[in-house]
Amino acid sequence: DAPAPHSAELLAMRQRSFARPQKNYYSNPPQIERGWKEHMFDVCGRAYLDMVNNVTILGHGHPRLARAVGRQWSLLNTNSRFHYAAVAEFSNRLAELAPEGLDTVFLVNSGSEANDLALRLAWAYAGARNIVSLLEAYHGWTVASDAVSTSIADNPRALETRPDWVHPVTAPNTYRGPFRGKDSTADYVGAVAKTLQHIDDSGTGLAGFICETVYGNAGGIPLPPGYLQQVYGMVRERGGVCIADEVQVGYGRLGHYFWGFEEQGVVPDIITVAKGMGNGQPLGTVITRREVADALEQEGYFFSSAGGSPVSCVVGMTVLDIMRDERLQENARETGDHLKARLEALGQRFPLVGTVHGMGLYLGLEFVRDRETLEPATEETAGICDRLLDLGVIMQPTGDHLNVLKIKPPLCLSRESADFFADMLEKVLSEGW
Ligand code: PMP
Repeated sequence: DAPAPHSAELLAMRQRSFARPQKNYYSNPPQIERGWKEHMFDVCGRAYLDMVNNVTILGHGHPRLARAVGRQWSLLNTNSRFHYAAVAEFSNRLAELAPEGLDTVFLVNSGSEANDLALRLAWAYAGARNIVSLLEAYHGWTVASDAVSTSIADNPRALETRPDWVHPVTAPNTYRGPFRGKDSTADYVGAVAKTLQHIDDSGTGLAGFICETVYGNAGGIPLPPGYLQQVYGMVRERGGVCIADEVQVGYGRLGHYFWGFEEQGVVPDIITVAKGMGNGQPLGTVITRREVADALEQEGYFFSSAGGSPVSCVVGMTVLDIMRDERLQENARETGDHLKARLEALGQRFPLVGTVHGMGLYLGLEFVRDRETLEPATEETAGICDRLLDLGVIMQPTGDHLNVLKIKPPLCLSRESADFFADMLEKVLSEGW
C-alpha cells in the first residue's frame, strides 16, 4: 500500500476538492483524529479542549450512543412512511418536552431544514408572506432560512440581498445596541412596532416573526426583559405566528432553562431544534400546534427521506436518555456558572474584557478596545483564538464584529476543563493583548 498522506498533503487535497465557501477554522489547522468527552486529539496525539462544539452536547465518542446507533443500523434503517416503534416514541418524547399545546412534531435533518419548514408553516397558516427577523441573526443556509439570516459576519452583503418578504428589525442587543443605557425594552419593542406598522400599511399581511430566544449569534445575549412577550403579542394580533429558533440555545445548554424562551416567560407557536439533539447525527425537528402543522396539507404531503428514520430516532432518544442519566443540563448550570464567574473575574483585571454574556454553557466573552465607546477588538479576538490553539484550546469568535468568544462546549465539560480554559485565557491576556 502507498503510505498514508501526511497532514499538509491532506490539507492540500481538501483545498483541491472541497468547495471553498466551506471554511476551515484555522489557516494551519491540526489534523484531528479522535474525540473523547470535551477533548479532541490530533494525529500526533496532542489534546485540545473543545470549547466551541455546541453540537456534540454529550461529548465526543460517547460509547452508549455508539452502541445504540450500531445496533439500530444492523437492525433496521428506513423512512417514516413505514410503521416502526422509534418514530412514534421519539415524536412523543419531543412533544412531552415542549410546553402544553405544542404537541405535533415534524422530523427533519438540520436546523436549516427546521427553520425552512417553520417559515413554510407560517406562510401556510397565516396565509401571508411577510416575516420579521432580527438583525445580526443566523438561521440557516437553505433558501428561506438564509433569507431571514441577516448577520453580516456570515455574509457581508446580507442586508442588501434580502428578499422583499423579509423585514429585519434592530437587534435587541442590550450591550451595544442603539438604545444602550435607556429603557431598552420599550425602545426595541418600538422598533418592531414600526416595522409591523409598515407591513400593515402595505396591506400584504404578516406571516410571522422568527428569532433566537437568547441571542446566540450575537454571543448569547439575553433579550431585554419582557421583549418577547410584547413582540409575540403584536405579531399574534396580526394573525402571525411566533417562531423560536432553539437550534443553538435550547435543549438544556442554558442550564437554568431547557428552552431559551423560558427565560422570557413566553410560549412560541413553533419551536425549531437541531444540532445538540442529534449529538452530531443530522437531526432536526419542528414542534408546533396541530392546527399549524395541518395548514401544510394545503401544499400536499410532507416527506423527508431520512427525517425520522429509525437510526435518527434512536440517536435522538439515546441523547435524551444520556442527558437525563448524566445530569447534563444540571452540569451546564453548575459548571457554566462557575466558568462565568471565572471569566467575570478576568474582566476585573483586563480592560479588554468588555463583558461576559450568557448563562449555563452558552457564554460569550466580548472584547472591546474601550469600555465607553465599546470599539470592538476584532483583530485582538482573532489573535487570542490563534494563541489559545497553541495552548491546546479550540475557541472561535462570533457576532457581527467577530469580537465575542463563543463559549459553548459539550455539556459534559468538567470543572477542571472549565478552569483550564479560564487559566489559558488568563495566560494569553497576561501576554499583553
Ligand atoms: N439556527 C441557528 C441559530 C444556528 O446557529 C444554526 C447553525 N449554526 C442554524 C439555525 C442552522 O442549523 P444547521 O447548520 O443544522 O442547518
